[in-house]
Amino acid sequence: MKPVLGGYLLFALLPFCWADLYQAEAERIMNQTPVIDGHNDLPWQLLKKFNNRLSEAGANLTLLNDTHTNIPKLQRGHVGGQFWAAYVPCDTQNKDAVKRTLEQIDVIHRMCDKYPEAFTCVTSSAGIQDAFRAKKVASLIGVEGGHSIDSSLGALRMFYRLGVRYMTLTHSCNTPWADNWLVDTDQEQPVHGGLSDFGRRVVWEMNRLGMLVDLAHVSVQTMTDVLAVSKAPVIFSHSSAYELCNSRRNVPDHLLRTVKERGGLVMVNFYNLYVSCNKEAANLSQVADHLDHIRKVAGATAVGFGGDYDGVSTVPQGLEDVSKYPALVAELLRRNWSESDVEAALATNLLRVFRVAEEVRDSLAQEPPDDEPIEYETLEGQCRTSYGYPAQASASASAPSMLPAALLFPLLLSRLL
Ligand SMILES: [Zn+2]
Repeated sequence: MKPVLGGYLLFALLPFCWADLYQAEAERIMNQTPVIDGHNDLPWQLLKKFNNRLSEAGANLTLLNDTHTNIPKLQRGHVGGQFWAAYVPCDTQNKDAVKRTLEQIDVIHRMCDKYPEAFTCVTSSAGIQDAFRAKKVASLIGVEGGHSIDSSLGALRMFYRLGVRYMTLTHSCNTPWADNWLVDTDQEQPVHGGLSDFGRRVVWEMNRLGMLVDLAHVSVQTMTDVLAVSKAPVIFSHSSAYELCNSRRNVPDHLLRTVKERGGLVMVNFYNLYVSCNKEAANLSQVADHLDHIRKVAGATAVGFGGDYDGVSTVPQGLEDVSKYPALVAELLRRNWSESDVEAALATNLLRVFRVAEEVRDSLAQEPPDDEPIEYETLEGQCRTSYGYPAQASASASAPSMLPAALLFPLLLSRLL
């Protein structure tokens, strides 16, 4: 009886042993090649919770506990690189978007300054690798939404100088030069049919600067236009596969194939709604399905991680916070992903795309900055002055503000008479 019982016990325990083995293997791989995640909204949480006051006792990033992200969780998750989102909502468009984006860039820099043992702010592919060696989180800045530059190439260039290394061309609103994903639903109407001429110049200027073009949140036509004109490979910093969940925030298969041809990268979003199309329920295995699908359609060189932690209200079972990346890697190993495919998804794909963008920048070093401003008439809102534009441009664009003058003129005339 005894050997039979022992054999049975061994058989019963086997799955648990394998689970531990995959987890251990994931940890071993990630010790060498930590994850570079495409999108984390901790800075937005810092604004909402503390109005960006990092000096507040509650804002201690080691102790912070009601967020997906804190320093111990990042360390347990083997996060070696993070694009922190400098995100401000669409209702800042035509108002204080630039100022608020600057403040989110500032809070990211202050995170690096306040916690130098955990974070190091970097701006290059080489900088990421230096941070890997120093066992710190390479901290990069992504501006989420083209509304943040207020249609100004000058603002774009200054963001680059402040360390911004990707810009998502739209958030969930059209800009004066690009359509967002909602035009592919019944919630918004297309305005530009993808990218406008100025939008093409934004992409060109980003290529010239060496700033990655991020196509999360844009419409299918904007994706298509950018993939056709961008000189550097593009990223989707936090988008999943449309074939598995037909949210328009996800990437359709025909564009996954174009991403492959153009050497780009899709970093999978973990938000329940984009994983299972059910906001209330998703699990780790379904996220692995998206990674599997993108690898199948676009190849192992086109897949990455873009969790969207702290930017979403629900995350899958098994991926509750940023400490859980090794569990997802263990699942990929269980699905027979090779070590090199896992490393590609974790970090080497992003490093490659970044390096190529830097090479494109270097190849365009002799090109002058694009100093042609957007046509004033294409802008909306009442808050801008028109210095530098011809007088008639500003007069026609700000017709409502002419109303008081029109009322005043007869009054003055009557006094003169
Ligand atoms: Zn987003």
